[in-house]
Amino acid sequence: RQLYGKERLNSQGVDLSNEQVLQQLQQSMNAAATQPFQAASLLAVADVAAAAQAVNNPANHADVVGEVVFSQPAVVADVVAAAVAAQGEWAALPVAERAACLRRFADLMEAQQPVLMMLALREAGKTLANASAEIREAVDFCRYYAQEAEQTLAADAKPLGTVVTISPWNFPLAIFVGQTVAALVAGNTVIAKPAEQTSLIAHYAIGLLHQAGVPRAALQLILGAGDVGAALTQDERINGVIFTGSTEVARLISRSLGQRHDNPVLIAETGGQNAMIVDSTALAEQVCVDVLNSAFDSAGQRCSALRVLCLQDDIAEHMLSMIKGAMDELRVGDPCLLATDIGPVIDAEAQQNLLAHIERVQSGARSVHQIKLPENAAAATFVAPVLLELNNLSELKREVFGPVLHVVRYAAADLDKVIDQINSKGYALTHGIHSRIDSTVAHIGSRIQAGNVYVNRNIVGAVVGVQPFGGHGLSGTGPKAGGPFYLQRLVQCRHWRMPV
Ligand code: GLU
Repeated sequence: RQLYGKERLNSQGVDLSNEQVLQQLQQSMNAAATQPFQAASLLAVADVAAAAQAVNNPANHADVVGEVVFSQPAVVADVVAAAVAAQGEWAALPVAERAACLRRFADLMEAQQPVLMMLALREAGKTLANASAEIREAVDFCRYYAQEAEQTLAADAKPLGTVVTISPWNFPLAIFVGQTVAALVAGNTVIAKPAEQTSLIAHYAIGLLHQAGVPRAALQLILGAGDVGAALTQDERINGVIFTGSTEVARLISRSLGQRHDNPVLIAETGGQNAMIVDSTALAEQVCVDVLNSAFDSAGQRCSALRVLCLQDDIAEHMLSMIKGAMDELRVGDPCLLATDIGPVIDAEAQQNLLAHIERVQSGARSVHQIKLPENAAAATFVAPVLLELNNLSELKREVFGPVLHVVRYAAADLDKVIDQINSKGYALTHGIHSRIDSTVAHIGSRIQAGNVYVNRNIVGAVVGVQPFGGHGLSGTGPKAGGPFYLQRLVQCRHWRMPV
């Protein structure tokens, strides 16, 4: 496929439906799993005394994936100094050379796909299909930003300087890589701070980036908890932050950057209270498939995931019985098996929060449908996908980050009220519309607050370069990741004017 008339192919990933390919992949993943993975921050002088912590597989706690030494905030000062010192040399390279590093890195990730997939499976609990999509998206980000840099960065565009990238565990490779390579290719040096839950895969990826030609000093890695991220964003020598995570943490970062006089850049991509409106003309079978994908794929741990399904009342009963029946066919379990649809949630804390939410809401719910967990569920942080039918949208306050689908019914005459209620939550990330009436689609689409609106399809899995992803309001600052404006935020564009 050609995108925007430019020659760039999106990565193909693995064909999991080909038995031979799958067998080969599984053999390579098993071989990669025999080596113990170890990770520490790059400039880890201050960490020598710290004990390594075991990393357990969320789908099987007895499986130890590797060990990580976490840094304390005290290391931040040295790491920032190193990244700041390296900036001039990195920025002096022609854009084409920096872009070439990204392309070599993309090729290395494709070559090392089994190792990376194995880490995504065992460290983050991704299913095979999700792990493959994860590598594909990371590769796409590299090739897309490499091309964008060459084609759109002005010759005199100056990088911001040193940029901190803070990434989440739900896309431990794709978002980690996307944020980091975008800042790098624009000429910034980067200090990457991945979520502590997924340090091993981040550490492995950084090794490949260095192998691809990015100098060690220009790309620093710090592994640690939130206090390390806070210390990084408070350091006055950094010039920008790219953050993906919760709305609350984005607000803290924004406040701390806002106290400075030199206006550091913040790109934040946060949560959503994403809805889908289904009217009585929608194709029921299609709605069913799209609802299941949108709400439960990745165990609902996507910021784009469907949280509130709004069903027109005259088809609600029928739709709900179809959705509940289809939910019963979903398999929760071992992510290594191709037949598994849904793996674990990331850790015990996430599991406890989700179970507490389900318990709190279900007593007042109009109907509840939860599927069964596998027998060995005790050794893993599984949460059984659940549908909670509420009486009113106002009962839902915060984003619930897991396999929990809330449903409300609405009367056709109240469509605008439903749209207003969704907008009143303040988020604006993804939104779904299922209707076969064009004017209804246009009406909802123009009134709804959302960065990505999906019509008669699912609402997850934005493709780099095809569906730029991101929202506004409580959902983030923009610009959209994997879209044409992203790199422009990472440079200072200047306009020169000479006498004519
Ligand atoms: N880009 C992802 C998607 O379209 C979501 C990213 C996120 O969860 O942060 O599903």
